[in-house]
Parts: sequence; C-alpha cells; structure tokens
Amino acid sequence: MLLEVDGLETFYGASQALFGVELAVAEGEVVALMGRNGMGKTTTIRSILNLTPPRAGRVRFAGQEIAGRRPHRVARMGIGLVPEGRRCFPNLTVDENLAAAARPGRWTLEAVRTLFPRLAERRGQSANTLSGGEQQMLAIGRALMTNPRLLVLDEATEGLAPVIRQDIWASIRTLKQEGLSILIVDKTLSELLRLADRCTILEKGSTVWTGAPGALDAALQDRHLGV
Ligand code: ATP
Repeated sequence: MLLEVDGLETFYGASQALFGVELAVAEGEVVALMGRNGMGKTTTIRSILNLTPPRAGRVRFAGQEIAGRRPHRVARMGIGLVPEGRRCFPNLTVDENLAAAARPGRWTLEAVRTLFPRLAERRGQSANTLSGGEQQMLAIGRALMTNPRLLVLDEATEGLAPVIRQDIWASIRTLKQEGLSILIVDKTLSELLRLADRCTILEKGSTVWTGAPGALDAALQDRHLGV
C-alpha cells in the first residue's frame, strides 16, 4: 500500500472529530473518501498531512511513518494536496505560483500547461484575478508541480460552473489514466463512482464501509450518503 491509515483519532481542542478512521490507497489507485457533511473527510486529510496531528492511530506513506513530521516534510515525502478552498499565493502570477512549487519530475510548467491550456493563456496574471475555475486549475497544477506520488483532492469541483467542472473532471481522469495515485473528496457522487477504483465511507468520524463503486448500491448510498 502507498498510503495506510489505521485507527486514526483526531481532536479539535476537547472535541473528538475522528474515532478510528481506516483508509488505504494502493499505488496507482483512485480512492474516493465519502460521507455526509461533517463526517470527517477534511479532518482525515488534515490528519494524514499532519496539518491537524492525530492523537492516536498511525499513518504510513510509502513505508514510512508520518507521525511527528511537519506538514511541509510530509509534502516532500510525495503527497500533493489540493486543499478545500484552493489556496494559491494571491499576489503571485500563475507562472510564479507554479514555479514556487516545482520539484523535479514528469510535471513541469510545460506539462501543466498541456493539462490546463487556460493556465498558459493566463500565465502572467496574478492568481487573485483568476476565475474560480482557473484558480482550481492552478491549485491542481501547483500540487502536480511537486511531482507527488499521491495527489489528494479535497472538493476540487465545489462552487464551479458546470462546464468548468467538466474540465476539472476530465483532467482528473487524465491523471488517473497516467497511473497517478489519487485520494479524492467531492460532492458529485456520479462522477466519483465513475472515477474511483474504491470508495471508503466515513460516518461520525469512523470508517463504516469500503468497497468497489459497483458494490455501493442504492440502499448503501441511502444509508450512508443520503441526506
Ligand atoms: P464537509 O463535507 O462539510 O466538509 P467533512 O466530512 O469534511 O465535512 P470535517 O470538516 O472533517 O467533515 O468535520 C468533522 C467534524 O469536525 C465536524 O463535526 C466538524 O464540525 C468538526 N470540525 C471541523 N473543523 C473543525 C475546527 N477547526 N474546529 C472544531 N471542530 C471542527
């Protein structure tokens, strides 16, 4: 396994958000982390990156323990995060944002521009003048520029116009076809089920189901994902 998460327990102050999350991503696999609002998806991602250090449990990435490492060190181990809310450096240009993240590998400025031609068109514009969709492309581009072994996408299509969403989904499918390992959280169930090799569902901070998207039938969807 590329990523192995066992018995993760995470708190915000005195309030416990995760109660033993189990999660795994194999090399080349796309895993959808699912669950209703507030069930702990973002907290799980934050715990994996040590942005919110877990109080119990373990996270192993590429055979190494993550515990005790600072977030930028975890990123260096090969985890590229596209955080909820797509944070880029607002006053840097598109190219400067991408260059700031660069580490050697397949993903270069040219490669990111090929994946997102819009970023080539906007190369000299500062990030805060981009549309929401373009900022999202930039956030994904930045994560790719670190040449990660695992790409983590938290709500990458949220709040975007439908045509832009389709562009983002198409780019994520391209990344999957290339064999990139991906952990993804998103609200668009139909797209997730189409993309994922495996789904893991959280309920109240615990893993309640893991399986292939084809096994996630209407009854399971209703029980664990319905509103
Ligand atoms: P959503 O789909 O709404 O983003 P989620 O599944 O990502 O939800 P989390 O954001 O991980 O869920 O939240 C899990 C629990 O932790 C919730 O009860 C939430 O209220 C709580 N929580 C999240 N962030 C904080 C915080 N900064 N301080 C205190 N509690 C928090």
